[in-house]
Amino acid sequence: MTSEDTAFGSVALDLMERALDAQGLRHTLPRRTMLEVVAGMGRPFTATELTERVAGRDPHIGRASVFRLLQLLRGSGLVERLHGPDGELYTLCLAREHHHHVTCTVCGQTATFSLEDDRAVARAVERIGFRMEHHVLQVFGVCPACREHTEEPSR
Ligand SMILES: [Zn+2]
Ligand SMILES: [Zn+2]
Ligand SMILES: [Zn+2]
Repeated sequence: MTSEDTAFGSVALDLMERALDAQGLRHTLPRRTMLEVVAGMGRPFTATELTERVAGRDPHIGRASVFRLLQLLRGSGLVERLHGPDGELYTLCLAREHHHHVTCTVCGQTATFSLEDDRAVARAVERIGFRMEHHVLQVFGVCPACREHTEEPSR
């Protein structure tokens, strides 16, 4: 873990604590444990991975508690659900403004980006008679680290 990851983790932990406080939820030790694990994940994770890591810290915290927390965090917008290479993934995401995710098909890591002309999405559906309410757009690709490992250097 780099110091950058650790800094991100503590900012994320603080934001998650505050979001749950705002929903009137009590501070409990299991809650703190689960949040610390989420903050330390470092990359998108499956609900099963999260449950296993949490159980490694405290075997008394079950799947139901982990799922309930994930739903609360999704409600606060700090955790997002993404499509991963092999199914559903959750990711901690602190971006507040409208954005999209690009997810690596090799390692599952994700990054955010924005479109230069985001209104183009609304216009495209207006052309077929829809009025857009919102959109979710996710791109798949190969991240810089995986490209380095998988692509032949060009000659
Ligand atoms: Zn996001
Ligand atoms: Zn990758
Ligand atoms: Zn958009």
